[in-house]
Amino acid sequence: MYTLNHVFKTYPSTEALTDISFSVENGEIVGVVGKSGSGKSTLLRLLNLLEVPTSGEVVIENRDSKELSKNETRKQKQNIGMVFQQYNLLNNLTVKENVALPLKMVKQKKDAWVDELLTFVGMAHKSQSYPAQLSGGEKQRVALARALVRQPDVLLCDEATSSLDEQNTDEVVRLLQKTHQEFGITIFFVSHELETVKKLCQRVLVMEAGKLLGEVENQPVDIQM
Ligand code: ADP
Ligand code: ADP
Repeated sequence: MYTLNHVFKTYPSTEALTDISFSVENGEIVGVVGKSGSGKSTLLRLLNLLEVPTSGEVVIENRDSKELSKNETRKQKQNIGMVFQQYNLLNNLTVKENVALPLKMVKQKKDAWVDELLTFVGMAHKSQSYPAQLSGGEKQRVALARALVRQPDVLLCDEATSSLDEQNTDEVVRLLQKTHQEFGITIFFVSHELETVKKLCQRVLVMEAGKLLGEVENQPVDIQM
């Protein structure tokens, strides 16, 4: 589904990505690890179509990202769910309203589906709470439900567990495993924490200073809670 061919991304003062090539099939869980500044966020911005490479290709479902029309780009973006380090929930909306928001933006309302997702992430009992009343782990579970609400084929997780303690990290990792089993979704899990990436991902891409150092095959653990 994703193929990167000799991708370079250059900013005026830096080469953020240097000659990156890899392929990801539908339904894989791929980890991307590297220190701060190694190019992980830049890679994510290419995968979620916020940017195009300076040279080389990002091919999504056989289409070069540079050649998509505005409309096609918008459609493809809707097919991608994002989870962030700082949750990015709206504080003046309830848990349920936060999860329903991406539907509301396309004038849809699927009440039963929103409730189902809240149950899936274990937050149905707090659907009327506000983000300020939740712990970090709870906020991230709500953010995951929101990312899934439009049934994307791809989930991009940007340091999704980096603000959480170990127990909550394990809980989010377990939920992502469950998400993968239930929805067969492709997951990119980007993090500077190798330990966490190894809990979740069979494939781990290792970045350093804008280069892909290599790929590690890994045996993820089955987290029991
Ligand atoms: P990471 O996410 O691994 O911390 P980034 O992709 O944010 O790495 O950054 C990789 C390199 O590219 C860094 O040297 C960073 O300063 C530079 N960089 C990233 N985005 C920009 C930008 N928009 N303009 C200029 N330089 C950038
Ligand atoms: P978790 O194991 O998810 O981190 P905690 O043990 O930290 O949960 O918190 C237990 C309960 O206390 C949570 O369900 C939440 O409602 C509440 N709580 C936790 N942290 C905060 C916070 N920073 N602000 C408000 N309420 C909180």
